[in-house]
Amino acid sequence: MPLSGRKVPPRAVEKELATVASPISGREVELPAMWNRMFEPRVLTDYGPDGFAALAALPGAESLEWCYGCGKCIPVCPVDVVGEYGPRKLHRKVQTGADLLADPDLWLCTTCGNCLRVCPKQVDMIQIMPAAREAALAGGGPVPGELAEVFEKTFRYGNALGANPRRRAEWAAAAGVPVRVLARDPSPVDVLFYVEDYWSYHPRGQQAARAFARVATALGIDWAILGPEEKTIGDSQRLAGEKGLFDSLVEDVTATLAKYSFRRIVTPDPHAFNALVKEYPRRGHEFTALHYTQLLAPLAGQMTWARELDLTVTFHDPCYLGRHNGEYDAPRTLIEAIPGVRLVEMGRCRQNGYCCGGGGGGMWLDGFSREHAAERLSERRVREAAQTGAQALVVCCPYEVSRFEDAAKSTGNEHLRVLDIIELIDEAMGLRPGEAGAAGG
Ligand code: SF4
Ligand code: SF4
Repeated sequence: MPLSGRKVPPRAVEKELATVASPISGREVELPAMWNRMFEPRVLTDYGPDGFAALAALPGAESLEWCYGCGKCIPVCPVDVVGEYGPRKLHRKVQTGADLLADPDLWLCTTCGNCLRVCPKQVDMIQIMPAAREAALAGGGPVPGELAEVFEKTFRYGNALGANPRRRAEWAAAAGVPVRVLARDPSPVDVLFYVEDYWSYHPRGQQAARAFARVATALGIDWAILGPEEKTIGDSQRLAGEKGLFDSLVEDVTATLAKYSFRRIVTPDPHAFNALVKEYPRRGHEFTALHYTQLLAPLAGQMTWARELDLTVTFHDPCYLGRHNGEYDAPRTLIEAIPGVRLVEMGRCRQNGYCCGGGGGGMWLDGFSREHAAERLSERRVREAAQTGAQALVVCCPYEVSRFEDAAKSTGNEHLRVLDIIELIDEAMGLRPGEAGAAGG
């Protein structure tokens, strides 16, 4: 692969020359290879219906067969940018005999949804992939080891990191403000803050969680957490094919939520948010759920700023906040409210935002995906961010900070800071412990 990161196009294999007799004059014409490709007839009986029939039997996976080959999905698929992928290509593979359930391609889709946005036939990878993966898991098909490990950790510990559930709220001790845990104080609360795995346990996520605690407290929000009672909402496990695990998490999560009285659930995780607004209602559990940027954006005018940051940033739209749930403005409202922050957009943003590679189980398939692509999606995105000239890549999904920080290092863009929006707000409001005006500091 060249250093630019551009993939090398596949080599077309041509017949050298074709001699064709003109049906009008009878004269023989020699065609160059580029054209004589069209003269290789397809043998339609070579393509049996078995591959599609097997998929059509899986509820949700029927639509792969609807593809009529227009190719619109290929240029927008983030995986094809770094490899050879996309619904059109998968359709062709299945048509020509590949068993999708046993093919490594089964695990490459991040369910980012960009193909569905442009597909005239509504070929829906967000349904196809979980259904096919579920069938592969049930049939004992090959499952990437790193993903199987995360399923096991989630099953045993209720979180993807395999961390001790009793340590869920440890991040809060260093927040600098009191953090209410509902098990200790079960009185009604406005905002139940669903911290999710990476803000609970990952060191960079914990910094963001503490920033949220300080900002929410400074704004006078009445909020609390579940602490050790929290389990992951599990949407990425569902999309990676573990529907049974997801269903059991829904039961556990809703049983815990039923113990408390709250008005809204707020989460920093767009994947959890997606499940709370779409999947939980399908199973009979309705909540008012917000992403944290949606909670804070209407309060931007009430934020009291301690300093100007003097920072040029670019923003990465999380697929499951933006394309899947239509929220593009709340994060930008917050970024643009921060004094001294200048936002420059990347070419691929909003509806056409590029996936970080973490969706649909991709968060736990980095090693596997790297074997099947020229570079990681996160690396491609970091290059795009660096090309804007921004000093920081700003995110609002817990998966992204560590992904992009790793990618900034591996692509030689260490100068690019990767920050959650809440960290910028916290910094500009001067709330960090030890800083002038800091809450609890
Ligand atoms: S956009 Fe839809 S119909 Fe067109 S090639 Fe892709 S999957 Fe097939
Ligand atoms: S959902 Fe995203 S990653 Fe999957 S095939 Fe479609 S565009 Fe590609």
